[in-house]
Amino acid sequence: ASGGYLVGLIGAGISASFTPQLHEVEAAELGLDYEYRILDLIELGRRADDVGALLGEARSRNFSAMNITHPCKQLVVDVVDELDPRAEHLGAVNLVVFEDEKLVGYNTDWVGYRDGLVAGLPGASLERVVQIGCGGAGSATAYALLSSGVTRLDLFDVDEARARDIAERMRPHFPSQVIATVPHHHLEEMITRASGVVHATPMGMLHHPGVAFDVGLLQKGAWVSDVVYRPLETELIRQAVERGHPVLDGGRMAVGQAYASLQIITGREPNRERMEEHFRTL
Ligand code: NAD
Repeated sequence: ASGGYLVGLIGAGISASFTPQLHEVEAAELGLDYEYRILDLIELGRRADDVGALLGEARSRNFSAMNITHPCKQLVVDVVDELDPRAEHLGAVNLVVFEDEKLVGYNTDWVGYRDGLVAGLPGASLERVVQIGCGGAGSATAYALLSSGVTRLDLFDVDEARARDIAERMRPHFPSQVIATVPHHHLEEMITRASGVVHATPMGMLHHPGVAFDVGLLQKGAWVSDVVYRPLETELIRQAVERGHPVLDGGRMAVGQAYASLQIITGREPNRERMEEHFRTL
C-alpha cells in the first residue's frame, strides 16, 4: 500500500479477532489508507518460533507494523533490534514497528489497561490490590497497576512460580511499593482486605466457565476488574455488579491496546471513545 499502511497480527488461533475491524474503522475515520491482516500461525502451518522469519517476510512485503499476540509476545523480545524501555521491563512485545532498517518492539497492553483503569474506574482506591493470574495479561496489568501508584500489590497464581516471576521482574522498577506474592491459603484473607481485585486468568471465557474467587468475600465498595473480554459480561462481572461493586470489564484493555498501537503506528491521535463505542457493537 504505497502511501498507506499495511499492518498485521501474528498469533495462534486468532482468525476471529476483532482487532482488524477496530484498527481499520478508526483509521478510515482518520482519513488513512489502512489495511489490517491476520497471520494465524495455525492456518499458516508455522510455529511460534518462526515469528522472527515471519517478521522478516512482512518487512519485505512492505508491512508498516505488526501486532503480536499469544504465543509470541516473549519470543519477539529477542528478535527486535530496539526495545521500548517499558516492553523491556515487561519482557513482552505486542507491537513491532518497521522503522527504516530497524524492528522496534513496543508493549501497548499495559498502557491499554492503565488508561482503561483511569477512564473506567475513576477515583478507584489503589491502597491494596490483589491480582489473580500472573501470565501474559497479568504481567501487563501488574505493570500498569504499579505505574498507576498502587501502594501494595498482592500477586496470586495457581502456579506460584509465575507470581514470583512477576514480583521479581517488577520490584527493581517500583522500589517504594510493596509487591508481595500470596500463597493459596492466604488468598481469602487478602481478598477480604483488598480495595480492588484484578482477575487475569482465562476463567469466565466460554471454555473456562466459573469465577476464580469468592466475590462474597469483598469489602463494601471494593472494585473488581476482569481482563477477559469474550464475553464482556463474565460471571465475575455479573456477580460483582449484582453485589454493587464498581467494575471494569476486559473491553477497556482490549480497546486501549488497539488505540495505543494505532497511535504509535500512524503518529495520529485516534478517538478513544469512538473506538470504545465501535468495539461494543462488534
Ligand atoms: P496465560 O495462560 O498467559 O496466563 C493465565 C494465568 O492464569 C496462568 O499463569 C495460570 O496459571 C493462571 N491461572 C489459571 N487459572 C487460575 C486460577 N483459577 N487461579 C489463579 N491463577 C490461575 O493467559 P493470558 O494470555 O494472560 O490470558 C488470560 C486471559 O486474559 C484470557 O482470557 C485472555 O483472553 C485475556 N486477555 C485479555 C486482554 C485484553 O486486552 N482485555 C489481553 C490479553 C489477554
